[in-house]
Amino acid sequence: MPTGFPIENHADLSSNYGSRIDPFTKLLTYHAGVDFSAPAGTIIYATGDGRIARTDFDRNNGQYIVIEHAEGFTSKYAHIKRFLIREGEKVKRGQAIAEVGSTGRSTSPHLHYEIAHKGMSINPMMALTKTSQLALIKD
Ligand SMILES: [Zn+2]
Repeated sequence: MPTGFPIENHADLSSNYGSRIDPFTKLLTYHAGVDFSAPAGTIIYATGDGRIARTDFDRNNGQYIVIEHAEGFTSKYAHIKRFLIREGEKVKRGQAIAEVGSTGRSTSPHLHYEIAHKGMSINPMMALTKTSQLALIKD
């Protein structure tokens, strides 16, 4: 399971997992990840060993990365400004993979971070808090 922190200053959690009011539509929607506010250009780290399954762009996620980890886990990083890796590359936990941006459906620079297991979304805070003593990726 990818248990590392995706960003160094992880204190700035701006939006939690679960139901919330969508900042664009003002409707109650399900937020399948967590958002970390950070200045544009802040480094994003791989939260576990794996392979870059995708570097892509769409209107919602902006530029985003999907990493495939062992045992069916995936992690996703959205609204990226700049990729520091390429699709297909192998990455280690704690490796710099991108820079924070505000691409796609985003009001200000932040990292939108998701974890899934076999396609089912998981609350990333469960993975993060479970190992919060150890998970600091600079360890
Ligand atoms: Zn988000």
